[in-house]
Order: sequence, then C-alpha cells, then structure tokens
Amino acid sequence: MTCDDFLGDFLVIGAGVSGASAAYELARHGRVFLLEGEAGPGYHSTGRSAALYTRNFGNRVVRALNAASLPFLLDPPPGFAEHPLLTPRGSLTIATAEHRAAIDQLLALGGDGNEIREITPDQAVEMVPILRRERIAFAAYEPDVMDMDVNAIHQGFLKGLAARGGTLVCGAAVTAIERRGGAWQVATASGGAFAAPVLINAAGAWADVIGRLAGLAPIGLVPKRRTAVVVDLPPGVSPRAWPAVDEAGEDSYFKPEADALMASPGDATPVPPGDVQPEELDVAIVADWLERATHLEVRRIAHKWAGLRSFVADDAPVVGRDPTAEGFYWLAGQGGYGIMMAEALGRATAALVATNTLPADITAGGVTATDLAPDRLRR
Ligand SMILES: Cc1cc2nc3c(=O)[nH]c(=O)nc-3n(C[C@H](O)[C@H](O)[C@H](O)COP(=O)(O)OP(=O)(O)OC[C@H]3O[C@@H](n4cnc5c(N)ncnc54)[C@H](O)[C@@H]3O)c2cc1C
Repeated sequence: MTCDDFLGDFLVIGAGVSGASAAYELARHGRVFLLEGEAGPGYHSTGRSAALYTRNFGNRVVRALNAASLPFLLDPPPGFAEHPLLTPRGSLTIATAEHRAAIDQLLALGGDGNEIREITPDQAVEMVPILRRERIAFAAYEPDVMDMDVNAIHQGFLKGLAARGGTLVCGAAVTAIERRGGAWQVATASGGAFAAPVLINAAGAWADVIGRLAGLAPIGLVPKRRTAVVVDLPPGVSPRAWPAVDEAGEDSYFKPEADALMASPGDATPVPPGDVQPEELDVAIVADWLERATHLEVRRIAHKWAGLRSFVADDAPVVGRDPTAEGFYWLAGQGGYGIMMAEALGRATAALVATNTLPADITAGGVTATDLAPDRLRR
C-alpha cells in the first residue's frame, strides 16, 4: 500500500465521540479519514460514561459548550437517529446541614430556561424513596438534566460521516507522524499509511502521546480514572422515574439504569492512558456510600467498569491549531463532559479549520478561541 492510496484532506485520529463529531463536520469540507486504533469505535471513554447531560456541570467554558450542543441534541437532523438522543431524567442534590453552602452554590447557577429549585427533604424522599430521610437537611432539584443515548449520538456522527463520503478505519493504531511535502504522513500498526494537509488529534487520553509522535510539546493532559458499578434493586422497586442523585460533600452519585442503579464513587485518580479497570477500593467506597445514603443493602455488584476523564490544568477543553505546527489541530481535554460537549466541539473544530473562527453561537455563549487554544497551557 502506498501513501497515495489514502490521501485525504483531513485525518482525524481517534474515533470516540469527539473524533466522530469532528469528522462528521469536516466531511462537509473534504475527504476525511477517521483512524481508530481499536477494532471498533467507542471502546474507551465514550463507551464508559454515565451518559448524563448536565448543563450546569463544569466551569464557565464547559457550561457554555454544553449549552451550545443542546439544540442539536434536542433536534438532530433527519435520519441522524431513530429515537430521541435525550430523555428527561432530572437531578437531585441532597445535603446535610453542614453543606448548606453547596446547595446555595448550585442554586446560584440556575437562570432563565435553566431551572434549579430548592425542595424540602420530604419532597426529596418522595422522589427517591430509598433515600434516608435523616441524612437530608437540604435538597435542590434540576429538572433539565437528561439521559443521553451515547450510542445513538456516536453512531449518528459515524453514519453521517459515511453518508458525506468519509471513511472510518478501525484497527489503525497510529504509530508514526511526520510533516512532509505539505502534508501529515501517518503510519499505522496495521501497515496502512495515510496523508492529509490537516490532522486532528482526537485521541482522548492519548492526545499527548499523539502530539509527541508529531514532535510537539505536550498540553499537560492528565487522564483520571473513574469507576462505575451497577447494583440491583430489591424486587418490586422500580427506579425508572427517579432523578440522578448526588450528595454535597461526597463525591459519589447514582442514577437509574433501566431497573437497576448505576453508581460511581466519583474517583479521579491520575493514571497513564490505558485500558483501565476498576479498583476494589473504589467499588467498596461507592457501596459504602450507597448504604449510608439509602436503605439499600449492597450484597452484589452486578457489573463494574472504569474509564478515563482527561483534563488539562484549567479543566476546559483544548481545541484549535497548534501554533508550532502547520495543519495540526488538538481536540482534547474533554474531562467528564465530552459526550455532552461533542457536538459543539466538532463544529468548533471544523470552523477553526475552515475559517479560523469559532461558530457564532459558541462565541455568543461567551467562549473565545483563546479559551480553547492549545498554547494557553504552555505560557
Ligand atoms: C465513569 C465516567 C463517567 C462519565 N460521565 C459522563 C457524562 O455523564 N456526560 C458526559 O458528557 N461525559 C461523561 N464522561 C466523559 C466522557 O466519557 C468523555 O469526555 C468522552 O467520552 C471523551 O471522548 P473522546 O472521543 O475524546 O475519547 P475516547 O472515547 O477515549 O476516544 C479516543 C479514541 O482515540 C483512540 N486512540 C488513541 N490512541 C490512538 C492511536 N495511536 N491511533 C488511533 N486511535 C487512537 C482510542 O482507541 C479511542 O477510541 C464520563 C467518563 C467516565 C469515565
């Protein structure tokens, strides 16, 4: 195979939700190859999330990007998905008396079209009857938190990419990257070679590894492991109408997962990029919290996993051209918000590539190219 066999306009490395969204948008502008090292897309962070759309989660930049994705997620283009991408869930935050300040902070994030309201402890227990009433002094409810159909979002981008003439290549772990003859030349473990003048680094936890292969300075990405478990509920107890629940002052949270509960200790342990697995200690921490916060007895963990949330120093994503390398764009640092931000970040990436500006709705939300720029982290 020669390089010319796989000459495109854009190479996107990593077919998680971020790379899929960027590839989908870039395919409007030219020939895209989306390169994925695993046998299929979605094996890493994208396939391991809690699947919640929480507009009020993350810092100012993240919250604006969450909001910018919302119109698409609520009303995707015809044929994108067969079912709604978002379904109502709601989110309940409970607090003991000493954590009143956390409830006030949460309430302060509410606003027009973005409701967060204080409810009584009795109302909280009415919503989620397994909660221990004696542990709740204050509670706040966010009705607009939603469940995301992550698979439908991811597959929608990939199907749309194919419909626009782009190509997903799996089993194509990138092993070497070089700028030659006005193009990025990329070699893969399977022997395939690809070239294009523009390269998008959407390799998730491996983004600094990809940068290093291209000879670039790191953005200081830190992958952090987060654990999740699924526990069964007693027979006859259906959580389907319950909101997600978290407790101020504790990192743990739970949410309904069909007829069971998905719960996480909210761990954020820095680790090298890899195929992370849950640690027993983290599983024990969340089981202990479930027993303290609710009347459940956690006898058996039905399922458990761990995934990576990758952050840079200021916890905002990194999107834009590397000023030290022509045609090399970063799309990294999505932290714990990468599914809900994916649509906005894909559009942002394509707009920066095509016009060197961010889409108008994103700037109108208060996000500037400097907020996202890769070199902000190297100053
Ligand atoms: C427990 C947990 C809960 C979460 N909850 C939420 C939530 O509720 N809401 C939310 O929005 N987000 C959540 N997240 C975060 C979200 O999952 C991530 O931000 C998002 O999936 C990141 O997507 P990505 O495409 O950037 O990364 P990934 O999905 O990891 O994709 C990167 C891809 O790059 C590929 N790759 C790496 N190196 C190479 C190479 N050399 N060659 C080719 N391919 C390569 C990898 O194989 C991988 O498929 C959660 C994460 C975890 C772990």
